Amino acid sequence: MLIDTHAHLDFPDFAPDLMEVLARASAAGVDRIITIGTSVESSRRAVELAKASHRGDLSIPDAPPLPRIFAAVGVHPNSAGQADRHFIEELRDLAKNPEVVAIGEIGGDCHRPPADEREAAETRAVQAEVFRLQLDLAVEQGLNAVVHERDAWTETLAILSPYQGRLRTVFHCFGKDIEHARELLGQNHLVSFTGIVTFKNAATVQETARLLPEGQFFLETDCPFLAPVPRRGKRCEPADTRLVAEHIAALRHTSLDAIASQTNTQAEKFFRFPG
Ligand SMILES: [Zn+2]
Repeated sequence: MLIDTHAHLDFPDFAPDLMEVLARASAAGVDRIITIGTSVESSRRAVELAKASHRGDLSIPDAPPLPRIFAAVGVHPNSAGQADRHFIEELRDLAKNPEVVAIGEIGGDCHRPPADEREAAETRAVQAEVFRLQLDLAVEQGLNAVVHERDAWTETLAILSPYQGRLRTVFHCFGKDIEHARELLGQNHLVSFTGIVTFKNAATVQETARLLPEGQFFLETDCPFLAPVPRRGKRCEPADTRLVAEHIAALRHTSLDAIASQTNTQAEKFFRFPG
């Protein structure tokens, strides 16, 4: 069975047909999904979904069981500027729920910096502060963190460095070469792969997925984004974890079962799913 370690089930894209989406995930062999918050509101919705799942409210009569949903709570770097000064208290309350298995997604994103030099510096400073506060929260709550890093590699590693030994992180939607991946593993962090690994122009990340040591990565969809080939361009959903897993199994000349069991063992250690 597979785990989609990074989905955005609270996004409006899934509102019309969430139950069908979950049923397709189950049919594809996905039995656990972590839905990831991107703001306080999104994190609250993620926790609600996880609670509904654990109460048994998300089920279809006379059908196979739907995947169990867990939540990560956090403010995405691109939402850091909108976080009000109480955001960390609100996240703390959410993080205390037993269905919450990580703080995320948090990190740094300098992909589209403001043109104005001062404004860009201010954006970086706000992102860094929001990131640090959430790493502190993760340590305090005994949780690991899901990191979003885009064009902010040096800054992100510098912020993480003093946390070594106190928490681990996974760099989600990893797209860099094996040297960058090894740098993270060397600091006890992990990476995870989305449908990008199936794209024709993704030779670098395919090479990384081929060369990484066993069990040092997770599978994810980042749905509704990044649907793997042959569904590229469509709405991605947790069932697509299977396409990601099959592609990585082929790259590594191993079986889907082997990839599933290696990634699950590490994910269970990292996220410590409750009961
Ligand atoms: Zn995401």
